[in-house]
Amino acid sequence: MNRIVDDEYWMRHALTLAQKAQNEGEVPVGAVLVCNDQVIGEGWNRPIGKHDPTAHAEMMALRQGGQVLQNYRLLNTTLYVTLEPCVMCAGAMIHSRIGRLVYGATDEKTGAAGSLVDILHHPGMNHQIQITRGVLAEECAAMLSAFFRMRREQHKARRVAGKGTLPE
Ligand SMILES: [Zn+2]
Repeated sequence: MNRIVDDEYWMRHALTLAQKAQNEGEVPVGAVLVCNDQVIGEGWNRPIGKHDPTAHAEMMALRQGGQVLQNYRLLNTTLYVTLEPCVMCAGAMIHSRIGRLVYGATDEKTGAAGSLVDILHHPGMNHQIQITRGVLAEECAAMLSAFFRMRREQHKARRVAGKGTLPE
């Protein structure tokens, strides 16, 4: 397979993980960590369910990858994630020394791979990660906007019914 076919293939896999997050009422973001064409880590966003502010899809995939490789360095791996990573996840990617990051939708509010800040290409950063942006971007973004639209409607319905708002 060539790289573009590969990237879309793994991004589709990440999208199925994002769907799991959505099914659990979490913001739909999915991540898959690949080494030599094999999955070594999978994650989906679960901070609410796990009462864990660090339980982002990327963190879960990196943690699992470390367990699989029995190494805190995840050299020569590629992380696929449906949404541009935040500062925390980008930092974890640098610590773990992944080789490449591929993401789908950009995150103008919190993206740390160029949108809000560019941690990954910060001058002087000792580990440089190769980045491919915008793979299946429309599908990734559509999933997120559909989720937020649905949640706004749920909030509105609850307000109308006099039941107050849902927790954020
Ligand atoms: Zn994150």
